[in-house]
Amino acid sequence: MTCAECRELLNAYLDDELPRPELDAVREHLSACPRCAGEYDVLAATSHQLQEGLVRHPAPDVLKARIRTALAKPDAFEPRPTARRTPWPWLAAAGLVIAIVSSGITFGAMQRRDSGELEHELLASHIRSLMPGHLTDVVSSNQHNVKPWFNGRVDASPSVPQLDSIGFPLVGGRLDYVEDRPVPVIVYARRQHLINVYSWPIATRESTAPRVTTDHGYHMAEWRADGFELWAVSDVDVPDLRQFIAAFRRAQ
Ligand SMILES: [Zn+2]
Repeated sequence: MTCAECRELLNAYLDDELPRPELDAVREHLSACPRCAGEYDVLAATSHQLQEGLVRHPAPDVLKARIRTALAKPDAFEPRPTARRTPWPWLAAAGLVIAIVSSGITFGAMQRRDSGELEHELLASHIRSLMPGHLTDVVSSNQHNVKPWFNGRVDASPSVPQLDSIGFPLVGGRLDYVEDRPVPVIVYARRQHLINVYSWPIATRESTAPRVTTDHGYHMAEWRADGFELWAVSDVDVPDLRQFIAAFRRAQ
């Protein structure tokens, strides 16, 4: 094996994707060629750094949703003949992001810890909404399209304030099930993040200030206003979430 042939196969070797004869040939060459061995060490170290650096940053919801949509396509797992030549950092990054997303789903959906049943249901609903085709039943950035869609579908029509002017564009709405009853959900965006707002009527008309809790990287805020209990679930920063809720309440 020449040095050029060895370099050509290094990425695949690092990713453990080589068939046996080529794998042995590369290993043999690396043991005998300090220059290629040095090249391999750099690749391995960079790959390690990339992994270390990436796992500290959870993927934003919109990215998760896009990855899931891409994975749901029928050809997502078909082998591509050019796969080996795909630049390895990109492959490594894509694999890591998918791993992070998968662990996020498992973590979020399987663990209950101390959060109450309702919080658990809302968090599961939020995570489910990020899967392909689950986010919206009605897609519109206009409140006058979203609000009427709920007529006849739920007993009490949800508030759908228009908040684009402060950086929270309306994405749409959907009907979800929480505690075995249909609940309207209004969806807003904040840069690459999504905010799901759930609401249902309650017997009291008291207003309460938002109470924010954090569970597995997701923030949940609960407040009451005008005979409704409302919950917002998102992975936006807490200050952004508070700003959103303050604007929502003013417009409500
Ligand atoms: Zn060499």
